Amino acid sequence: MAEVAERLGSERSVSAAVASGNKAAWVLQEPTFGYAREDGTPREPTVAEALAEWWSAVNFLADPRRLPAALHVLYHLTTLGCLVSLLGWHLSWRSALYFLLAAPFLATVTHTAWLHRYCSHKAFEFRRPWMARVFLWLNGLNIREDTYAIPHRVHHQRSDRVGDPYGPHLGRLGSYLAIESVTKLNTSMTPVQYEHVVRTVSHIGFPVSTYAQFQRTGTVEHAGHLAVRMAVAQALWGGLAWAVGGLECVLAWYGAVFFVTFLVRDFNYMGHGGRRPRAKVEGWEFDDRTLALNQVFYGLLASEWHNNHHKFPRSANLRLVPAQVDSAFLFIRLLHALGVVSSYVDAVPRFRQQRAEGAQSLASVGEEFANATGIGDGNDGTPLPSRR
Ligand SMILES: [Zn+2]
Ligand SMILES: [Zn+2]
Repeated sequence: MAEVAERLGSERSVSAAVASGNKAAWVLQEPTFGYAREDGTPREPTVAEALAEWWSAVNFLADPRRLPAALHVLYHLTTLGCLVSLLGWHLSWRSALYFLLAAPFLATVTHTAWLHRYCSHKAFEFRRPWMARVFLWLNGLNIREDTYAIPHRVHHQRSDRVGDPYGPHLGRLGSYLAIESVTKLNTSMTPVQYEHVVRTVSHIGFPVSTYAQFQRTGTVEHAGHLAVRMAVAQALWGGLAWAVGGLECVLAWYGAVFFVTFLVRDFNYMGHGGRRPRAKVEGWEFDDRTLALNQVFYGLLASEWHNNHHKFPRSANLRLVPAQVDSAFLFIRLLHALGVVSSYVDAVPRFRQQRAEGAQSLASVGEEFANATGIGDGNDGTPLPSRR
């Protein structure tokens, strides 16, 4: 008995060490252009280097594990074709309305509430495991949950620093193309490290690959399951659009998928200030540990108040000041009222209370929420490198 307890104890401490270590060093494969300059600052790739890295991430002929990323690129380009066809030949009141309803739905519900706040940060809990699976099977954006959530935690740990898998430090093109690079999970990680990674996505509800399968396919979600449920989601959403309004609504739906996916990819660059980050605005932005900003466009379209999010990565509510309307949180509250969501993390009431009591205590509130995630998505606190 004592032996078992001792073994469990040592396994737990190994797991804790894995969770708190620098994830950039082992979760993902380092880009071919390298993370850092000699002086220890992030290395911005040239256009040629960014393209070479991207090619290594999609070249499934050289490595079959790159097939899901290559298929996603094909899908991304096809949806761009749908948007062009919609705007050029099929625009009507009906298709425009379908687009205008689909885009905020995909941005707020599928992206922010599901992929970002639930899959990546577990900001709320579903009452029953099957309820999460409904969202999984209805993910019409075709952005994978495992390769969204797992690299995203590295982004939080290493924001704007060496090892951050996307952001302005890679340049606009490099950051856009990094979404293929982050699918290159490090299949040489140890079984203990893989076990840790699996635990951080266990709430999502997909069957996971065994360690041997992961090494072969590169997907944490079982590859067969991934293929089937992605195809089902396409059939459901495409079929719904067809039933509502035929080809023009199908084009409107996939046009919206392209539009939102483009924004999600580009947001990794823009949300952290792009090439020239502006100064933080007092009383509007409260996180000084990253370059993330609160921008009205992304805030209203997708509830991505990104500076607030970096302050409270695990909070389901990011409306730190009243003008920062958070519709993803309203959706989560609705699910809570309906009994679908059993609980959620809300950092706002204490933040507002402590802010009223004096600004000095604000930093500790941020740290507490950032580090109490249990999934190691807190910023590691190293100083921001100076930008060039
Ligand atoms: Zn960020
Ligand atoms: Zn996040």
